Amino acid sequence: MMKPNPHPRLASHRISALLLGAITWSFFTMTTLADEKQPAAFRTALIYDDIFLEHDTGPGFPESPDRLRMMTKHLKAHPVSKRLLWTGPSDKIDPMPWVLEMHEEDYVKELKNACKAAEGVTRLGADNPISPRTYEVAVKAVAGALTAVDAVMAGRVTNAFAAVRPPGHHAMPDRAKGFCFFGNAAIAARYAQKHHKLERVMIVDWDVHHGDGTQEMFLKDPTVFVFNTHQYPFYPGPSGSPDIIGEGAGKGLNLNVPLSPGGGDEAVLKVFRTTLTEAFRKFKPQLLIISAGFDAHEADPLGALGWSSDVYGELTEILRALCREQGHERIVSLLEGGYSERGITEGVRRHIEALEAPAEKP
Ligand SMILES: [Zn+2]
Repeated sequence: MMKPNPHPRLASHRISALLLGAITWSFFTMTTLADEKQPAAFRTALIYDDIFLEHDTGPGFPESPDRLRMMTKHLKAHPVSKRLLWTGPSDKIDPMPWVLEMHEEDYVKELKNACKAAEGVTRLGADNPISPRTYEVAVKAVAGALTAVDAVMAGRVTNAFAAVRPPGHHAMPDRAKGFCFFGNAAIAARYAQKHHKLERVMIVDWDVHHGDGTQEMFLKDPTVFVFNTHQYPFYPGPSGSPDIIGEGAGKGLNLNVPLSPGGGDEAVLKVFRTTLTEAFRKFKPQLLIISAGFDAHEADPLGALGWSSDVYGELTEILRALCREQGHERIVSLLEGGYSERGITEGVRRHIEALEAPAEKP
């Protein structure tokens, strides 16, 4: 027979404490599990490495390491910087098989050997200064683009901006062109398809120059939609004609929208809200890659389209909203041109702020 409890009230307190403990434990367990299912802590990754400064193009050349120095200094002085996942290109990725998906082996060897032989700054073709480190830096820029794809595809972040140089959208399968060596955006698109098993990728190129290299690589490809808006007629020439719409199975999946000098923000916003929106909704991309040049900025010494810094945020918002319609927000943005201080600082920051902003409720 059990001894009667001399302190019945104390016992009930003990039971209450046990119950409370159990409830508290369950609450913490549930909270922890729920946290694991929460969205990533960072919405936006900023892929950058000081190695991108080591592609020396000589004094006075517009595509210079100072572009990235100005950009990173400006970003780090701004509150958005703390909300970004700053990270470098992953060492775990070997970019070479992916470079060779889009470029001829002979050209890759020629570039490698020319850089190895270079004493100081020399040239590979008319518009492509090279220096001893150029090849390694260009390979690292590709790694940066692929790191951005991996981060977005793994859901580590919602979107990513890779602040890489040298740029890529003029690079041809068999040669360097227009400050570009390897087609960063094109290689990233193919990587997303072959490595991450995506079927449809769209590349939106808003650099002031037509992305002729990217166009060339996917002209006959029905799985990658290439959209270009650019000043026209302008460098690189007739490749930016609206008559070029793709070939064979890729017919209708290349869209060039030329813009006239001085058109300003309204002209490009109209294109994004009409022509681009229509093409995007029809193609339904599973990943969007932006060839983000900032040389259509009103301060740019090369371009003459007269865009404000703010328009880069507005264009980004339009693209995010279009992705959301498809049930995702997978955007990989890659730096192309941009040669003014305001374009490469304010323009880039407005783009990144719009990538990082909380999504609007549908
Ligand atoms: Zn450009």
